Amino acid sequence: MQCPRCGHQDDKVLDSRAAHEGKSIRRRRECLACAFRFTTFEEILKDELVVVKRDGRREEFSRQKLAGGIRRAFLKRTVPDERIDQIVDSVIDEIQRSDKTAIPASEIGEIAMRAILPVDQVAYIRFASVYLRFEDVGQFARVIDEVVGGKK
Ligand SMILES: [Zn+2]
Repeated sequence: MQCPRCGHQDDKVLDSRAAHEGKSIRRRRECLACAFRFTTFEEILKDELVVVKRDGRREEFSRQKLAGGIRRAFLKRTVPDERIDQIVDSVIDEIQRSDKTAIPASEIGEIAMRAILPVDQVAYIRFASVYLRFEDVGQFARVIDEVVGGKK
């Protein structure tokens, strides 16, 4: 980190501690040239959000992957691409508002399902069948009941 006083590039870290409830790290540094002391904060960038998969593996959040999953659910439906993009945007907005740096895949699935339901019920059921990993026809029927029941 460049020294704010003399511009030297090298410093030593005197102290590191968690800040903002563990969401950032505060480092006290000392310039190796002039011994000036300064403080830096490190934060995880929002676009480096991590998805925790069902089996516990972690992977970088991918907008493309999310958009791909949502688009597949809308395959051959009459919903315009722009409307699907809006759904993807709204899902990402909600994830980012949650202020998390790691989010379970199941939670992303639920947020996406909530966004899809008011737009297209068939797409909703398709998406749900992938995200909830339906194991039998009964689970399928229950979700369909919920969708149809919700209309009453
Ligand atoms: Zn310096």
